[in-house]
Amino acid sequence: MGNTVPEKYSAYVVTDLPKYTEVTGHHAPVPFWIAPNMFPGINIEIAAGEASKMVGNPNAAPHTHDIPEVYLCVTENRGDVVVEIQIGDEKFTVESPFAVFVPPGTDHCFAVLKCDSPNYVFGIGQKDWKKP
Ligand code: ZN
Repeated sequence: MGNTVPEKYSAYVVTDLPKYTEVTGHHAPVPFWIAPNMFPGINIEIAAGEASKMVGNPNAAPHTHDIPEVYLCVTENRGDVVVEIQIGDEKFTVESPFAVFVPPGTDHCFAVLKCDSPNYVFGIGQKDWKKP
């Protein structure tokens, strides 16, 4: 089919995705689907990896940053993806679908415990976040 984007919207459509970027704490370059300032005034980043490829293969060691992160997993059925999330010194299990808030300045990571079909776990960061 191809893309049929009008010239006046060409800066609003990005198809050369993901954009792989080195991130502290991660074992390999992270696939970003939205990068900061990709679009006018949109200063968020959204990374996501395919969860069925991450079973027994965590993508990151515990790490921290000064902005919060939201883990988001959207699935058709409850429990399609099961992750173990670490926040601070707590580890807990969460079944999809889920959204999890990781406070800024807190050690965190997750490991996929179960995922039998292609699904994505997103990590969403707001780069210009300010403490409410
Ligand atoms: Zn993080």
